[in-house]
Amino acid sequence: MNSATAKRPQLAHLTAQLDDFRQRGTFFRLRILDDQQAPVCHYDGKQVINLASNNYLGLCNHPKLEEAAIDAIKKYGVGSGAVRTIAGTMRIHMDLEEKIAAFKGVEACVVFQSGFTANAGTVSSILGKEDFILSDELNHASIIDGARLSRAKIKVFRHKDVAHCEQLLQEIQHEPGHKLIITDGVFSMDGDIGPVAELAALAEKYGAIMMVDDAHASGVLGRNGRGSVDHFHCTDKVDIQVGTLSKAIGALGGYVCGSRDLIDYLYHRARPFLFSTSHPPSVAATCIAAFDLLEAEPERIQRLWDNTHYFKQQLTTAGFDTGGRTTPSSETPITPIIIGDGRLTMDFSRALFDAGVMATGIAFPTVPEGKARIRCIVTSEHTRTQLDQALETLTTTAKKLSILT
Ligand SMILES: *Cc1c(COP(=O)(O)O)cnc(C)c1O
Repeated sequence: MNSATAKRPQLAHLTAQLDDFRQRGTFFRLRILDDQQAPVCHYDGKQVINLASNNYLGLCNHPKLEEAAIDAIKKYGVGSGAVRTIAGTMRIHMDLEEKIAAFKGVEACVVFQSGFTANAGTVSSILGKEDFILSDELNHASIIDGARLSRAKIKVFRHKDVAHCEQLLQEIQHEPGHKLIITDGVFSMDGDIGPVAELAALAEKYGAIMMVDDAHASGVLGRNGRGSVDHFHCTDKVDIQVGTLSKAIGALGGYVCGSRDLIDYLYHRARPFLFSTSHPPSVAATCIAAFDLLEAEPERIQRLWDNTHYFKQQLTTAGFDTGGRTTPSSETPITPIIIGDGRLTMDFSRALFDAGVMATGIAFPTVPEGKARIRCIVTSEHTRTQLDQALETLTTTAKKLSILT
């Protein structure tokens, strides 16, 4: 710590907040990965079975993606040197956008620096003060921030409650503003799937814009990982599909898919697109290789689901609450183990780490008070032996802490 800045009083309120986290037992330090994002790897110098990453398909270190990145660096350098609208649109950025649009079966696509900026930049630019946003209460923070930035009126419907969404739509039916319905395809903390088809039907009925954030569904749900909209066969009813390149795709970025006009509009108005530099060419090249792989090796996705079903089944047999009692029921590789108490959750996570399993504790304010959980994600690359060992460690550690009896 820098002692020259440590004692200045201007930020004392932050120190007080941190002390409060410490008292609640929810203060954390970042765990540091010493090697690669892999099923078994080293954090803080300790070997662990990794149940904490979003590297669903093991693409973070796939040789073909690495090769594509290295080739792109050799051909095009390491940086793009400008924002897209000034001088930073490289041929490879356009290739990636065309690739994703074709993969998703839509007219056009724009790639953002992250899924976060894709959501926030889109929602904030397509709506204004007179408009309305109907948003699931568990939607991602980037949607909430985008909604706030748009200054549209925000109506929050109860989680996955289509009837409640319709009631809110009826209340504003005669208001002149545009209406946008927005849901996550897969909810990131509970792993349940949004009612995409029903909400899209509502949007149709009330003339609302339909938007789906498929960050956790990209590469996981739908044909070859095309996402929840494909899973529910409603590509023609969803105006805006957001996805991420940072999770199953293994690199970094976010994208928006839709009509040519939507994408051209975002090129002109989405602030992260206009005011933040585009990806290094290596990132675009990595993502292109990843989409090639999704088309060529769908068996990876099958392995992901096989591991998911096995892991969930074994957790339930061991007596864990994997959601569905007091929280939504997980239907995807995101598998919460609900503990409830924030401090006990963090203690459990630390004890698991000491016993060789990396599984992140998540407490308030990321999830509601009293719904703290350990969040586990298996990947296509975990072996049965690794999963069995992780399950054994989860069970014995939970017994030690009286989480299981
Ligand atoms: C992770 C996530 C994002 C953000 O994606 P990044 O590419 O990591 O910025 C957006 N929405 C949801 C639902 C997410 O889970």
